[in-house]
Parts: sequence; structure tokens; C-alpha cells
Amino acid sequence: MYDHIIIRYGEISLKGKNRKGFITSLKKRVKQVLTDYDSIEVHQSFDRMVVKLNGANHEPVINKLKTVFGIHSLSVAIKTEHDLDLIKEKALQLVEDQQRGESMTFKVTVRRPFKQFPHRSQDMNRDIGGFVLRNTENLTVDVHNPGMELKVEVKQDGAYLSCNNSVGAGGLPTVQDNKVMLMLSGGIDSPVAGYLTMKRGVKVEAVHFHSPPFTSERSRQKVEDLVKVLTRYGGDIRLHIVPFTNTQKTIQKEMPDNYSMTIMRRMMMRITEKLAEQNHALAIATGESLGQVASQTIQSMNTINEVTNYPILRPLISMDKLEIMKISRAIDLYDISIRPYEDCCTVFLPEAPKTKPKREHANKFEQYLPVDELVQEAVAGVETIIINEKDEEFSDLL
Ligand code: ATP
Ligand code: MG
Repeated sequence: MYDHIIIRYGEISLKGKNRKGFITSLKKRVKQVLTDYDSIEVHQSFDRMVVKLNGANHEPVINKLKTVFGIHSLSVAIKTEHDLDLIKEKALQLVEDQQRGESMTFKVTVRRPFKQFPHRSQDMNRDIGGFVLRNTENLTVDVHNPGMELKVEVKQDGAYLSCNNSVGAGGLPTVQDNKVMLMLSGGIDSPVAGYLTMKRGVKVEAVHFHSPPFTSERSRQKVEDLVKVLTRYGGDIRLHIVPFTNTQKTIQKEMPDNYSMTIMRRMMMRITEKLAEQNHALAIATGESLGQVASQTIQSMNTINEVTNYPILRPLISMDKLEIMKISRAIDLYDISIRPYEDCCTVFLPEAPKTKPKREHANKFEQYLPVDELVQEAVAGVETIIINEKDEEFSDLL
């Protein structure tokens, strides 16, 4: 029955002169997620995009489109010719399909940008509404708060009829040049931070610090699986695995226990900054949330942040753990994040990390650490893999 999907832009609409570029990026991504459907066509216009299904089933297509950033809402639609009787007939079919026999309130909203169509919007509202009411049961009109809104748009190429909108992923479409390095552990927070960073229209590359044999192959696999889920939203993602064992052992041996966590984080920052430089990323994203653990007090952030002047994006900064977990579950990351494998930070975590570390102390201690060599060695040992969006079914991971 449905032959089209209407995609509505969100914030893109506010973009003035840059709007065209965003729409082009969005169209590219829409086509990417629908590559498996040979028959589908995507047409863009100033205020929306229309996917012509050409026989494809709308449900899986809608599900794919719900992962695309830059889409505010979408709805399935039926297209008809410029013929009022046909429009009424299709309107009835659509309402019946959405109503599924339940009692419901509804309203009709007609827009007629194509003024050559010889019926005024107000007349059509009444005409179509009356026809639908006469031919259905358990349906009443409520113009203020309808359970279902039937939208009819009469455009130059035909009339589009659609009902209830599905909510899109929101945000902005990915601009490939806007790249951010995501510091990705195997925990709950940083993958969510990755998702929220991507949502703002940037491409991420992930950096993971790995300390074999203290951290296992399985903990590395967990990170690869998390990245795999993120590719649903951003396409292929490069993952940089940093060998961190030597740095951690050296810190453990040479640095005071209560500063080891702070200094380890400073080392992570330095290494990530180098990788950002090498890969043309302009910022670093983390899963930090203010006050959550010892390393995330405002004093800790101040001392850790000292070693880089790259912008640090912390999309979770104000969120409670429960809010973060909610997003994690909603986008299928949670079950992977809670797999019980060790992380390099927890393995080396001191008994009592300083919650208010000072910059001057960290700097003083680091004079006894071969900082540059450790950074160079770690960067030289990085293994970069590309996690593809396609390859396997996601259900295998969950
Ligand atoms: P997460 O749930 O993301 O692991 P967390 O609550 O465990 O975060 P921390 O251990 O303090 O918090 O880590 C803070 C941030 O540092 C993480 O969100 C992540 O961005 C980064 N980070 C921690 N461990 C690693 C790692 N092994 N590799 C890369 N980044 C890491
Ligand atoms: Mg963690």
C-alpha cells in the first residue's frame, strides 16, 4: 500500500546558506544505509526528502532510516494523482490501516503548494474528513489533540498522503571532514559519548588503550563489538588499538600510588592527541561525567586536561548514570558494555586515587617519567583496524 517515505529535516532547516551542504551529506548517508535496496530512489527538495520504495517493504527501510542523523521525523506515504476522488479513497485506506479497528480521534490537514489543483485546502479538509468518517467506525474528529493526523500535501508531481510520524535520530548529518577522536573504553559511558558526538554531525575514529596480558583478547573484542554497533549510525569507523602495557607498568613502578591514575590519564591524553594530529581530527571526545568517579572531579579534569590544548568534548558531562544507561540500552550498546571483561584502567587502579590532584604535583612527578619516549613508543605500536558497517548481522553481537 505504501509507496513512499517522507523524511523531514530537523535542525538542517535552520542552516541558512549551509543548508545545501547538509542536505547533500544527508542524502549520501540515506543512500548508504539503503544500498541493499536496488530499486529505491531518493529525491531531495528544499524542505524534505522523499524515498520512493518501488516495491520495497517499508518497515525495514524505516528502521534503517531511523539510524540516520539529520532526520527529524519520517512517515510512510501514499502518492496519488491529482484527483480528489482518488485522494479520498487512498485517505480511507490509510486511516483504516493505521486505526486497525480501534476507536480513535483524528483530523485531516491539507496543504496545497500546487495551486493549479482546483480545490481549496479548507474544502478538501472537510471533504476528505467527511468521506473518511462516513466510511469508518469508531472514529471521531478532534482538531486540537488528535490521536491520528492525516496529512495530505498536494504537490506538483502528485498528492502525498501520510499519517503518524516516526521519530528520527535527530542531530545533524555527518560531515566527513569534521573528525573527532573518541577515547573508547569497554565501559558504558564512552560508547554513548561516541553516539552523541556523532549525532552532532562529526565523523569519529576510536582510540582504545589495551594492556595485554593484563587485559585479554576478549576485552579487545568487546571494544570492537561496541564500535560495530556505532557503525550503524556513522558508517565505517577506524579503531586505533594502543599498546599501553609498558606505560602502565612504568607508571606503576615510578610514580606515587595516589597520582598513578591521574598520570595514566595524562598519558592517554597525550597519546590520543598525537593520534588526532596524525589522523586530522580536530577534537577529542570522552565519556566523562562530572563527579562520577575519582578521575572525573573538576580538579581531576583540570589536571588531566593540562597536557593538551585540543578541545575535549564531554557529551555526558551533566548526565546521571541512569540517563546514560537509558541511552545505552536504547541503542543496543548496553549488553555488550556489561560483559565482565577487565579494562586497562581497572587493572592498574590504585587503592586510593587522589580525587583532587594538582597540576604542579603531576608535573613534578612526571619529571621522573620518560614521557616523550613512552608516547612515541605507544604511538609507533598502534594497530589500526577498520570496522565495517556491513560484514555481519548485528544480532550476532547482542
Ligand atoms: P567508561 O564507562 O566510558 O569506561 P568510566 O565511567 O569507566 O567511563 P573512567 O574509567 O574514568 O570512567 O574513564 C573516563 C573516560 O576515559 C572514558 O569514558 C573514556 O573516554 C576514557 N577511557 C578510559 N579507559 C579507556 C581505555 N582503555 N581506552 C580508551 N579510553 C579510555
Ligand atoms: Mg571505564
